[in-house]
Amino acid sequence: MRGEIVSVGTELLLGMIVDTNAQYLAQQLADLGIDVFWVSQVGDNLGRAVEVLDRGLSRSDVTVVTGGLGPTEDDLTREAIGAALGETLTVDPELEQWLRDTFARRGRPMPERNMKQATLIPSARALPNPVGTAPGWWVERDGKIIVAMPGVPTEMRLMWDQRVRPALHTRAGAGILVTTNLKVLGLGEGAVEEQLGDLVHSTNPTVATYAKPDGVQVRISAKASDETIAREMLAPMAQKVLEVLEPWVYGRDEETLASLAAQRLAARGWTLTSAERGTAGALAMEIGTDSTLAEQFRGGFVVAADGTPLGVGSLDPLDLAGAARNQTGAEVAVAMVLSSEDGRPVAKFAANAAGHVQTGSSRWNLAIPELRRRAAVETLALLLRALREAT
Ligand code: ATP
Ligand code: MG
Repeated sequence: MRGEIVSVGTELLLGMIVDTNAQYLAQQLADLGIDVFWVSQVGDNLGRAVEVLDRGLSRSDVTVVTGGLGPTEDDLTREAIGAALGETLTVDPELEQWLRDTFARRGRPMPERNMKQATLIPSARALPNPVGTAPGWWVERDGKIIVAMPGVPTEMRLMWDQRVRPALHTRAGAGILVTTNLKVLGLGEGAVEEQLGDLVHSTNPTVATYAKPDGVQVRISAKASDETIAREMLAPMAQKVLEVLEPWVYGRDEETLASLAAQRLAARGWTLTSAERGTAGALAMEIGTDSTLAEQFRGGFVVAADGTPLGVGSLDPLDLAGAARNQTGAEVAVAMVLSSEDGRPVAKFAANAAGHVQTGSSRWNLAIPELRRRAAVETLALLLRALREAT
């Protein structure tokens, strides 16, 4: 099944908002095994919206549109779909009632212009919107589908999850895509690909690498007529990839360095502290990315050049980690120091998990914000290593 995504809104074209709807839907459609070949953005303009929809109807099985379902004059998605199909919009009595009830529940009178949100064309069914006033449209004619959902991301996602995804899942049954991501640290993307050798040329399952802030992700995807078969195809390939990259793989799918560290800490009932210098709190921020780890966090120190507030002026992160443990009583400490040697930035990290110590250092050619983030990621990797040794 072939799909395309259309985002409607002049705000997008002016660069005032980022098209997160298209990004989300692209992932979702891929998960359903629907091949997305085109993503378009179009302003709040009837003629151009019709043009984009015409193209969608001619080349794709399903065109998923977001935005332009509001009550105002520049919300034209319904009109554009009507025009593209040559069908006339009329008020649907049931929808009108629902809309009036929605306003009544909010204790507000319904502006007359909202009536257009109660319209349908003969080929359209309404998709309920439990959190807003704009119902979506499911349009089907001559074997082609157009789905229109609100632009507001929370409304769109709810409608997608509750209505659109299940319906498309049934339609797209011919190809379900399942994926798993292995997360690698300590090898660059090129080196990962080299290790993978011929595996990256496999077509089903596919194996692809992506550079991410927390290392390299290896995405393995398999497509089959049903999910069980796809999973059976996926598993042996994932196993092969794992065997090749074993020493560098730290996690899989939803797992992050922070969440894996949190699991290890929880197993021992330990708490965590941090100290950092030259990094403006980047390490504490990274710790905060996982809610469990954030709960296990006894606080951290962003240390000045003279050692305030830890009283340790040393550039050795192990000294900082020790002082942070003493101050907070946490069993486990991480520390990092970003400084300059011969005019080049150098990052040093340390982790101390109840006496199990790991240290490391790196020099990168990166802008300061990336450098800080990168150093924080490396420090959490050391933390995980120290915790694996200690638990
Ligand atoms: P409503 O449900 O409010 O009637 P609508 O269908 O009229 O929504 P728009 O008016 O196009 O949608 O957009 C409303 C808001 O939703 C925008 O101001 C923007 O903040 C957000 N939005 C719209 N399109 C997108 C998009 N493609 N990606 C991310 N956010 C979007
Ligand atoms: Mg609007």
